[in-house]
Amino acid sequence: MLIGATIGHELWIIAVLAVLLTQTATIATSVYLHRALAHRAIRVHRAADVVLRLVLWLTTGQHRREWVAVHRKHHAYTDRHGDPHSPQLVGLWRVQLFNVLYYAREARNAETLRRFAPDVLEDRLDRLMLSRGWVGLGLGIAGLMVLFGPAIGGAVAGGHALLYVFVVAPLINGIGHWHGRQNFDNTAYNSRVLAWVTGGESLHNNHHAHPRAPKFSVMRSEFDPSWLVIRALVRLGLVTIDGGPAHAYAGTGTRGRHDDVGRPEDVLAAPGTKRDVAGGRARRSARWLRGGGDRGGVCRLVIRGFRHRSPRPGQEARR
Ligand SMILES: [Zn+2]
Ligand SMILES: [Zn+2]
Repeated sequence: MLIGATIGHELWIIAVLAVLLTQTATIATSVYLHRALAHRAIRVHRAADVVLRLVLWLTTGQHRREWVAVHRKHHAYTDRHGDPHSPQLVGLWRVQLFNVLYYAREARNAETLRRFAPDVLEDRLDRLMLSRGWVGLGLGIAGLMVLFGPAIGGAVAGGHALLYVFVVAPLINGIGHWHGRQNFDNTAYNSRVLAWVTGGESLHNNHHAHPRAPKFSVMRSEFDPSWLVIRALVRLGLVTIDGGPAHAYAGTGTRGRHDDVGRPEDVLAAPGTKRDVAGGRARRSARWLRGGGDRGGVCRLVIRGFRHRSPRPGQEARR
């Protein structure tokens, strides 16, 4: 009985720590890799830049230039040939299960890095240590084992890897281009529930409409956890808002460049990339005004996930 209670207690500790670690990595990815580097929506102070890179190195081992290049390519070819991880092209379940392989394949493509991330170059910190992702991951796992003991530390690392690689990231790339609500006229979808655990990334329809907006929520009912972190960093003087529409600045007391939404060069920071929303107008669609997105049942969603899906009439013309 006592042994059972102890094991149950340890499982709770492992689960809570793994979730906390995944949330830390998810928000660091959203704030730094996605909003700061890939879209230049915010500017990060050098001190916060180093801290966020170290956090990502220890918790994910990701290479920032690779992440930025793969993501910008996704925006440039959203849900059409060339998109590195579109469920519309390969089916929802392939993206859910093999998202990490699709990412790794594109990240190895030197042409993708050259074309989509010419502005994200290796600095001394990268050359010294951060470009060695496996070293970061190894140190992260070793640190957990020292802090919580080999068994609990190892289990927390395993739980975090499982959650980050096979749950959070695929949910953003898979469900985010498959099913949910739409405020704007593009091929991505919002999930207000998933947004709570994906650092706001599941407000994906909003994000594809305004890629340079530092805040992903636009409705009262939507919550973007990473925006809370950005606001705190703005107050501390560690982040400056740099892009996005007027609604993105609500509550920060920060004035941004409100005139930059809709110009091709504002959708992505890198030259030579395309917009994914025609005209950048991103107006609320008639679909939303009629009361929401695709409301298929869960079973239909699961079955459809095995199939590829052709674009809805009119979508092809907009790209
Ligand atoms: Zn997307
Ligand atoms: Zn993006």
